[in-house]
Amino acid sequence: MEPNQYRVLLFYKYVSVPNAEEFAREHLAYCKELGVKGRILVASEGINGTLSGTFEQTEQYMRDLRANPLFADTVFKIDENEGHAFKKIFVRYKQELVTLRFDEEELDPNVISGTRLKPKDFYELLQREDVVVLDGRNGYEYDLGHFRGAIRPDVDSFREFPEWIRSNMNEFKDKPVLTYCTGGIRCEKLSGLLLKEGFREVYQLDGGIVTYGKDEDVKGRLFDGKCYVFDERISVKINHTEEDVVVGRCRHCGKPSDRYINCADDTCHLQHICCEECDSEHNGYCSEKCAVHDQMAG
Ligand SMILES: [Zn+2]
Ligand SMILES: [Zn+2]
Repeated sequence: MEPNQYRVLLFYKYVSVPNAEEFAREHLAYCKELGVKGRILVASEGINGTLSGTFEQTEQYMRDLRANPLFADTVFKIDENEGHAFKKIFVRYKQELVTLRFDEEELDPNVISGTRLKPKDFYELLQREDVVVLDGRNGYEYDLGHFRGAIRPDVDSFREFPEWIRSNMNEFKDKPVLTYCTGGIRCEKLSGLLLKEGFREVYQLDGGIVTYGKDEDVKGRLFDGKCYVFDERISVKINHTEEDVVVGRCRHCGKPSDRYINCADDTCHLQHICCEECDSEHNGYCSEKCAVHDQMAG
């Protein structure tokens, strides 16, 4: 390991945190002192974070967090990176780590959650014909890359899932359902929700797509395209086999691309897939409307 190597950490732990608000405040001060950057959410139901720092800073962070008995067995996904993947550090207290429009009391992952599958077992089940695969992320994340054959949920935020499932998944209640998301945290609740809704056999990919991509045996097989991530990298490679394909499509010309950019119009900032040619042709705007709007604004 190069001494100057940066790393990106992704982690969560569902555990009852006493005085979560106070913990969040102290944790922010601690992170600033340490020099890590990123986004950490603290709730009375646990912690969820992604952050970047030097090798030493991230080592120190993991050591310190695990030294707290509450978080002793927290699993960290580690990526190497050229530098920081965030500009600032945010540590925020929130009511819940991930929000579903559902009675949250009833969806404690420590009480009800789908069966956890290691990458190898997930890969085996993926290939069974009777299995339904549901992407546990937003539609725009699916569009950049997803497991082959997975259903694309037409949602822009996690809270839309309960309603979407009731309207679109009823025919699959008796089939085995495989769920997956980026790091695993969303499926802890999504798989519990499916069980509550009467689905009989529900599984979740333990550690999410990023863990699957690091697994020595499966090497990201059957994941097509790239995995959307919520930091400056925008996407990461998952499939390390010869299968690697591009599934994203340029918003303007429809050609295969996995370049995500933000619309150049300050009032829009829509994140969209755009190939290099269209980027220069449309000056980074997502639409004609935004190009015109920006000119008018001067
Ligand atoms: Zn294009
Ligand atoms: Zn726009």
